[in-house]
Amino acid sequence: MKLVLATRNHGKIVELQRIIAEIMPAVELVGTDSFPDLADVEETEDSFIGNALLKAHAVAKATGLPAIADDSGLSVNALNGAPGIFSARYAGTHGDDLANLNKVLSDMDQVRDRSAAFHCAAAFAKPNGFEIVVEAKLLGRLTTAPIGDDGFGYDPIFIPGGFEITTAQMSPAQKDQISHRGMAFRELVPKIIYSLKEIK
Ligand code: IMP
Repeated sequence: MKLVLATRNHGKIVELQRIIAEIMPAVELVGTDSFPDLADVEETEDSFIGNALLKAHAVAKATGLPAIADDSGLSVNALNGAPGIFSARYAGTHGDDLANLNKVLSDMDQVRDRSAAFHCAAAFAKPNGFEIVVEAKLLGRLTTAPIGDDGFGYDPIFIPGGFEITTAQMSPAQKDQISHRGMAFRELVPKIIYSLKEIK
């Protein structure tokens, strides 16, 4: 079976292929790069769940294949939930991970409450409009400077609860075990398998 991963973010594609292959090895995952004519889906909803569903439906409809999408980001309590759904473009340019991370550090300069969370909404949609969506979050705290070279996005400034290292200092397998994306997709994938068996 072929499933389209509705994202062009390379870091996310790598993580999702790893996580999904572990649960659904028989599935062939293709990125939206395999569909050069596919227009980018604008994230116009005001929640992670809304945007994940929007992307999954748009890609399922455009490709005629079942699609999986996620919308994720960092929410910082002292910043009233920012960058939130704007995580990928917090400093202005979409996907400029370094600028985004530096803006959070500068917004948080001298701020004592450093609690934050990574959120992930994971959605599945079929071309006929069928949908499933789940949401998970990973609680943690922000560092005052970047630490670690792995991962992507805000990983170098995020320490998950119960750890003393950032998610950028974790091995990919260790991050998958605890991450918001790992949790969300481990919940979503069995539901997808069930739906593919039950609903034709
Ligand atoms: P999306 O592609 O609209 O879901 O944007 C997600 C953005 O949130 C990414 O560009 C990262 O900046 C941030 N983000 C989401 N998940 C993670 C993660 O696991 N580590 C670090 N940053 C993340």
